[in-house]
Amino acid sequence: MHCGTGPDVAPIGVWGDETDVVAATMEWAANRVVRHTDPKTTARRSSELAEATGPTITAEGLGGATALRLFDEVLAPATRSQDDPMNLAYIPAAPTRAAVAFESVTSAANIFGGLWEAGAGAIYAENQALAWLVELLGWPVTAGGCFVSGGTIGNLSALVTARHDALVRRGGIRPENGWKLACTADAHSSIRSAARVMDVDVVEVPEDGSGHLTGVALREVLAEHPGVFAVVASAGTTNTGIVDELHSVADVCAEYRVWLHVDGAYGGAGLAAPSVRGLFDGIERADSFIVDPHKWLFAPYDCCALLYRDPDLARAAHSQRASYLDTVDREAWNPADLAVHLSRRARGLPFWFSLATHGTAKYAAAIEQTLATARTVATAIAGMDHLRLLLAPELSVLLFDRPGWTEEQMRHWSRTLSDAGVLLCLTTTWNGRLVLRMAFVNPETDAAQVIEILRTTMD
Ligand SMILES: *Cc1c(COP(=O)(O)O)cnc(C)c1O
Repeated sequence: MHCGTGPDVAPIGVWGDETDVVAATMEWAANRVVRHTDPKTTARRSSELAEATGPTITAEGLGGATALRLFDEVLAPATRSQDDPMNLAYIPAAPTRAAVAFESVTSAANIFGGLWEAGAGAIYAENQALAWLVELLGWPVTAGGCFVSGGTIGNLSALVTARHDALVRRGGIRPENGWKLACTADAHSSIRSAARVMDVDVVEVPEDGSGHLTGVALREVLAEHPGVFAVVASAGTTNTGIVDELHSVADVCAEYRVWLHVDGAYGGAGLAAPSVRGLFDGIERADSFIVDPHKWLFAPYDCCALLYRDPDLARAAHSQRASYLDTVDREAWNPADLAVHLSRRARGLPFWFSLATHGTAKYAAAIEQTLATARTVATAIAGMDHLRLLLAPELSVLLFDRPGWTEEQMRHWSRTLSDAGVLLCLTTTWNGRLVLRMAFVNPETDAAQVIEILRTTMD
């Protein structure tokens, strides 16, 4: 073992002996990694938590045993079980045990992952995982990027790079009517958030009849709006899991020399699944891409892979300069240069470790399994008299409703099953009305169990 080659940290000094608290917290983590959490756990009011815990920040400190007991008995149970196989809400999570366990290792190693000089070994491993994604994208091996906290920061960082590149290509002259980015109404909320941060306008491209961004519609918008610096296409919308028509969108972006960013935060995992890979055709021509391994690539929070076809353009946009950074080797691979961040933990390591442990074939199989689960449930819904399948899964999201039920009845059904810890299936709005939605990312989700619930509780 090479971890910690020096003597144990002496149990003296200002913190006193931390041996027990280390042992107890590590034991808690080891137990949690191999256990399912209770699906009945749920948020509680802050006032209730205050009453249950009493003051936690005190001059004398509670001691590790008490603080850990409060976490175990009060705080952790007031959180939702994200990796429960029957959690089909929003985009849930399904990290491998290897990935979660290695999250603890990553924390213990406390690596500064912003600069190669401080984090070389970790950054090398992260880059190996990114290279797998680059290969799936069909991009040149010179492509690369870094891991950021989530899709929101990934999208923002990519769009900042796109605008910087557009400004440079225009010789530093801003468009007369301001910068704009183009996307559909179904693009993720984080795209509008990025637009607000960047103070740019969003031009909405009309979707085709089934919710996709297409080249045909995009061409009209780009012809009309010369200030568009980037087009954002979704490779798996969050609400409906559909993939935009990337090949025709890429054609039009090339024609107008506009940056193409593909938001695959949820759906990008589908690149590894042969049964849906065809939906992503055209992605090989995108300029930037994100995918959240904490969604459908079996890694724990918080982890977004941000990739650029030409990382030099990201460096030009993001590198921070200051006298205290003069010694930084700018020839090295510095993740800090590629996004809106400087200090960063090596948050791609758990994803790398899980991939290295299990191999890419098992990853593909696990993603295919969730796709099969979604299709099986969709087929069953389509065959049930009392239910109506509204949107068959392109990837692993499906929408349905219960004809004859009011909106309140749908909400009530959803809430009752959630309170009982049986199934977490929430409502969403689709085509202007309330519908039920399920998103599958967990290979442990049992289609038969989901179908049984839909059959027996909705009669
Ligand atoms: C989840 C999601 C995001 C935002 O990612 P965060 O990690 O939550 O910041 C962006 N785009 C899509 C399509 C998503 O599903």
